[in-house]
Amino acid sequence: MSAAANEYDYVIVGAGTAGSLMAARLVETPGVTVCLLEAGPADTNPNIGFPPGFMKMIFNPNATWGFMAEPGEGLNGRSIPAIQGRVVGGSMAVNGMVYTRGQAADFDKWAQLGNPGWSYDDILPYFRKTESNTDKGDAQYRGHEGKLPIVALDWKNELVDTFIKSAGELGIPHNVDYNGKSQAGAGVYQYNIGKGKRINTARAFLHIARKTGRIDLRVDARATRVLFEGKVAKGVSYTDDKGASVKTVMARREVILCSGAINTPRLLQVSGVGDPEHLREIGVDVVKALPGVGQNLRDHITPRTVVKVAGATSLNQIANSKVKVAGQMFQWLRNKPSVIGIGVVLGQIFWKSDPALDNPDMLVTFTPGSFKEGFLGVLDDVPGMTLGAWQLRPESSGYVKARSTDLFEAPAIQPNYLAAEKDRNVLLSGQKLIRRLLNETSLKKYVVEEMMPGPSVQTDDELKAYARRQALAGYHYCGTCKMGPASDPLAVVDATLKVHGLDRLRVIDASIMPDITSGNTNAPTMMIAEKGADMVKAAA
Ligand SMILES: Cc1cc2nc3c(=O)[nH]c(=O)nc-3n(C[C@H](O)[C@H](O)[C@H](O)COP(=O)(O)OP(=O)(O)OC[C@H]3O[C@@H](n4cnc5c(N)ncnc54)[C@H](O)[C@@H]3O)c2cc1C
Repeated sequence: MSAAANEYDYVIVGAGTAGSLMAARLVETPGVTVCLLEAGPADTNPNIGFPPGFMKMIFNPNATWGFMAEPGEGLNGRSIPAIQGRVVGGSMAVNGMVYTRGQAADFDKWAQLGNPGWSYDDILPYFRKTESNTDKGDAQYRGHEGKLPIVALDWKNELVDTFIKSAGELGIPHNVDYNGKSQAGAGVYQYNIGKGKRINTARAFLHIARKTGRIDLRVDARATRVLFEGKVAKGVSYTDDKGASVKTVMARREVILCSGAINTPRLLQVSGVGDPEHLREIGVDVVKALPGVGQNLRDHITPRTVVKVAGATSLNQIANSKVKVAGQMFQWLRNKPSVIGIGVVLGQIFWKSDPALDNPDMLVTFTPGSFKEGFLGVLDDVPGMTLGAWQLRPESSGYVKARSTDLFEAPAIQPNYLAAEKDRNVLLSGQKLIRRLLNETSLKKYVVEEMMPGPSVQTDDELKAYARRQALAGYHYCGTCKMGPASDPLAVVDATLKVHGLDRLRVIDASIMPDITSGNTNAPTMMIAEKGADMVKAAA
């Protein structure tokens, strides 16, 4: 493939979780060529592979987009960071590495919404295809032959063990595999980590597939428009990171958008696909009226409880001791269990806010460490632990809107966190479960002081008010180009992920989720890419 080639079988926009996997799967077909455009730089930053490097990456302008959400009424008018990866590997180059598939019922609902082929039974093989699960997961659910390593936490910590034991004391059973038959219960997290290093779809798939010589990965290449002839997508225009010059690249077969749930709808909007009224406002001619583009923005949100502890080792003591860090580093270099080779959250409880429910609707996450002011960044000087309350399927929904046709101007991102009363109530149940863990179980013996929200916050209203003033995003943006039948006025893609009413254009990333999944969104996005790749190949 010559460097000057300007026509490929497929043009993919975005080398993130979905795009990196998609490109690799497409070139499995002999002779197929792919041009993969990535707005960010190559993934050479050593902090990508180094799990604790996460904290240095999420606010790094060379690795993330630097977006802020619009002020939210449900957050007392606060505007909070809306982090998205902008580097080869995408958000999976900067994320928390947690591997969570969600619940079977999530995908059965997708199918019930009019999306044939997306029930849990239909999509389970795609989850299994990607992963090489090194634990003894049930082969009915878990994959062992894929290229992406998934490991359960192997670093032992007394606080994590006690957290799981304490859940048991409240009647919540231990679940060894929340990605297996059932999500319900308490246990340790699983991560996309191999030999102590972050492995994302760029590292597990893309870079290996590039050895075919048939993937032209162009970095610092920001797509500015999808180019249409009538209703047919023919190519993409793009510019470098400074907007210096505009180039084009053409697709013989399809243009595939994998730019993530914030940037994919924005690119469609500036290309003339969206709500006609919004397109008029930003001065774009309508190619196809699809009012759902950018709507249905979903995310998780979490208020955190921060506790000062004594009597056990927390991450804070390790991080603040050169000797302990050196010891952990030594272990990590020998590929032994070490605090260096793990994700950001360690323990979880997936549970029900109401015993009458069939499936968990809330989550409590556990980290045997605490950060200054409760925000990810610098670990506290004093020993601590952090517990996060989450609602698994928030109903609050917002939008992404391009403010102009300038791809260098951040879009308006409004997730409308905590707008739905149900969301506030389920989150409250999670906050109360945390209080019970701290006050009624074995975990209590380590508690010196609850630093946040602290003893002054007691009533339901006070806990809800704390969530409004402290909660931060999950960064699990999805739903903004939702999949659904043409009869759904807000559907953007059909069940084959083709954009309604247009030819040779698909969206294959977190945007297409019709509803948010019960947990982190990276594993479902990989599943979408695996299934999407099969559908693209079948159409060739
Ligand atoms: C800080 C953070 C922590 C998270 N933690 C977890 C976790 O622990 N577990 C989990 O399951 N999920 C987590 N997530 C969410 C998960 O990473 C995402 O759901 C997933 O990566 C989405 O994949 P995607 O392919 O849709 O988009 P992305 O992976 O974001 O990829 C989109 C790519 O497209 C590129 N792009 C965008 N616009 C353009 C353009 N115009 N031209 C060219 N390229 C473009 C971007 O730069 C990016 O590389 C986290 C996310 C973040 C940001």
